[in-house]
Amino acid sequence: MATATIFAGASLLTFSSCNNKNYANFDDRFAEYPTYSGSDLELSVDNSGTHFRLWSPETDKAEVNIYDEGSGGEPVMTIPMEFHKENGTWTASVPEQLYGKFYTFRVQSDGRWLDETPGVWAKAVGVNGKRAAIIDFSLTNPDGWENDRGPEVKNFTDVIVYEMHHRDFSMHPSSGIENKGKFLALTEKDTKSLLGDKTGIEHLKELGITHVHILPSYDYNSVDETRLQDNVYNWGYDPQNYNSPEGSYSTNPEDPSVRIREMKEMIKSLHDEGIGVIMDVVYNHTAENDGSNFSLTAPGYYYRHREDGSYSDASGCGNETASERRQMSEYIVNSVKYWADEYHIDGFRFDLMAIHDIETMNRVAKELKEINPDIFVYGEGWTAGDSPLPVERRALKENVARMQDIAVFSDDLRDAVKGHFTDASDRGFATGKPGNEETVKIGIVAATAHPQVDYSKGNNSKFAYASSPEMIVNYVSCHDDLSLTDKLRHSMQGEPEQNMLEAAKLAQTIVFTSQGTPFMFAGEEIFRDKKGVHNSYNKPDSINAIDWANKSKYRDQFDYYKGLITLRKAHPAFRMTSAEDIAKHLVFDEIDSEKTPNLISYTLKDHANGDQWEEIRVVFNGASKPQSVNIPSGQWKIVAMNGKIDPEGNLGTSKGGEITLNPYSALILSK
Ligand code: CA
Repeated sequence: MATATIFAGASLLTFSSCNNKNYANFDDRFAEYPTYSGSDLELSVDNSGTHFRLWSPETDKAEVNIYDEGSGGEPVMTIPMEFHKENGTWTASVPEQLYGKFYTFRVQSDGRWLDETPGVWAKAVGVNGKRAAIIDFSLTNPDGWENDRGPEVKNFTDVIVYEMHHRDFSMHPSSGIENKGKFLALTEKDTKSLLGDKTGIEHLKELGITHVHILPSYDYNSVDETRLQDNVYNWGYDPQNYNSPEGSYSTNPEDPSVRIREMKEMIKSLHDEGIGVIMDVVYNHTAENDGSNFSLTAPGYYYRHREDGSYSDASGCGNETASERRQMSEYIVNSVKYWADEYHIDGFRFDLMAIHDIETMNRVAKELKEINPDIFVYGEGWTAGDSPLPVERRALKENVARMQDIAVFSDDLRDAVKGHFTDASDRGFATGKPGNEETVKIGIVAATAHPQVDYSKGNNSKFAYASSPEMIVNYVSCHDDLSLTDKLRHSMQGEPEQNMLEAAKLAQTIVFTSQGTPFMFAGEEIFRDKKGVHNSYNKPDSINAIDWANKSKYRDQFDYYKGLITLRKAHPAFRMTSAEDIAKHLVFDEIDSEKTPNLISYTLKDHANGDQWEEIRVVFNGASKPQSVNIPSGQWKIVAMNGKIDPEGNLGTSKGGEITLNPYSALILSK
């Protein structure tokens, strides 16, 4: 199975001293645990004081420690907790409102005290997330927060996703941004590169994307927040505290309120410009095994195990969580709801979503929709290794039709257009390799059933797995693997750079004209690279940061991407909402791909999806030589041709007949 997002620096401490019990056959036992999901879990503060409630159904004792500081020093108070058998929780209260203090829990399991933990529901944390913090959340809201909301989304196919890492986007000296690598980078107005091009939020507005998808921004493990001067980089797929923001993206990780307020300021700043914020969430595994907050509160419960008692590892990161267990399922649902409520998050991208069960994912989407119907949920419909969870229960790409309001990434289109991700030199449809035509067509129709698409010829999938285009996210690259630029440089070695630029344009034209939701990796509009490094999760900024001088150097590329986005937004024909509409309004020209490979041509006809244009003709030539197509006679306007695009269709006119396309180029006509 094609995959990606892994290797994020997980510790592989399969057996450590604090726990050597075999949980392999505990399913029945765990199923008997009482569950509890009240909003007062772990911490609540009201007029009667500060209250703690830890879910830990099978421990001998529990206590809460109160501290003055987020790290260092001794507890100022240690309070034993009282067990409530009916819901498996331990409670303690003090009559004061302990704002400004920090706390940890400690439980005794099988006669042994485990390490201290901030719990699994810490919404504010001290530096490096070792202690939870007691703060007044109302003081973390920026001005106008009560009226803040993200963009309305009529259909998920209207969304245009831009995937970025905070550091990638702002760290480079050329960014002109003051708060480099911080949440606040996206609050700065009118920033410019050294060459005078717009950067930061102005760049996003200029490009026209609708949603920013930020790489993990919850508190993760790998960056030491006390040593930010070291400028350590990590993607953040090593979760520590799921319900608090990451400290290294704040200007002061020592103060628990600062990261919260600054993240909200970022979100509000984007919302003020009509841009939505999607969070990358990684509930499928934790950075630590026995040392994780899950293990230190309810040993064994939150993870799946192999027969021999070791952690099963469908994440490729040392463990996998057990969403099929009720308390974990509730945890995932309530955690995303919390982010939607408290932070006004507009969407969630689930890492290795197929590690989760379908039922949990359906609950996620359903309950989020009750908070805000515009929230977009999508994920990687695969795992990175085998799992004890039966295939039919997994939230797999192939099972997406059994999920409601959830989309999956199409690795079909991705690999077919640019070549397989595991082989840097492999080419794809857009770079001259024959044999990918049918798989590209699967992407064009968003993996829905279409009378002219032969799924038996699909490279990755052999059936129409989506019952609606709103179930598919199309892309040709993301943070994982080689960036598109690096992939083209590697696979097109020896060709002039201009060919690579044209191939990139063609590849993205396929993404942005296809049915489904388009997704792009930040910076590709200015031909950013990662210096040939595919798994750059912990590589320095010198590899990962976007060099904004590229915006001047590759201006033509930027203008083309911007044109593509404008075109898509103006024309609902590219954004159909039902499989029936696609089957009816999207008609492929019969082309014998044995004789003329790397050529696809189709029509969006009869004002598809209410489009103002009666007919749109889309042709892709992925060959390294010019190829011709026969266009029916008519009064055509030229929208895109030979590496140029004009969303208004003013590149010229055509009366039809034979039209020749340059190598690696798209032709779009309208009438
Ligand atoms: Ca952290």
